[in-house]
Amino acid sequence: MSYVLVKVYCPHCEAPNVKKNGVKGNGQQNFYCKDCRKQFQFTYKNQGANPRIKKQVCQMAMRGSGIRDTANVLKMSAVTVILVLRLWFKTHLEPSFEGTFENVIIDEMWSWVGKRKESKRWIWYAYCADTRKILAFQIGKRNDKTCQKLFKKLSHLTIKHYYTDDWRSYKKHIPPEKHTISKAKTQKIERQNLNFRTHLKRLCRKTICFSKKDDMHFGFIKAYIWLKNAT
Ligand SMILES: [Zn+2]
Repeated sequence: MSYVLVKVYCPHCEAPNVKKNGVKGNGQQNFYCKDCRKQFQFTYKNQGANPRIKKQVCQMAMRGSGIRDTANVLKMSAVTVILVLRLWFKTHLEPSFEGTFENVIIDEMWSWVGKRKESKRWIWYAYCADTRKILAFQIGKRNDKTCQKLFKKLSHLTIKHYYTDDWRSYKKHIPPEKHTISKAKTQKIERQNLNFRTHLKRLCRKTICFSKKDDMHFGFIKAYIWLKNAT
């Protein structure tokens, strides 16, 4: 019999500072990380419980893979993929900023939830051209109500100037002296939209992959924006 020594690293924080921590009911050796104080196993029978696989599920979701692609590649069920993503979305909060912002571009981008025509959802978002952060977003119809909700999320901020397309709702919420209707400025954000569409499969223009549920749709957008703002 030959033995292979394998150094065990914590799958949560990648630290080598780990110790054995008893045997699980399923016979698997359990470990404890002295750095992040989380427990883990070396091998997992249920891949949905494996922290490394969980990370991969989320990375794939943010790099243009659909639920089915992810399930296939990582050899797990679509249900587990959705479960992992739902939990992960909870840890990514909506943008929360404070203070003053000079130049803010607002745009609307369409997306789908479900198959039917009436399932069009507009993603409204405010992007600061100077800090390159998304200050707030709102998903809904392309109407006044959604626009209003977005502005409510921005109301505690001091915004010096807004740039938008000529969609009529904006005039109701932005004083004219602070408002520029500009194609050139909104083109900047159009590139941002393209990033969204490249990285989230469900936002791709010709996709057959779309969110079937609004909460998943919201979760994907929220997580994507969270990660984008963190860079
Ligand atoms: Zn750890």
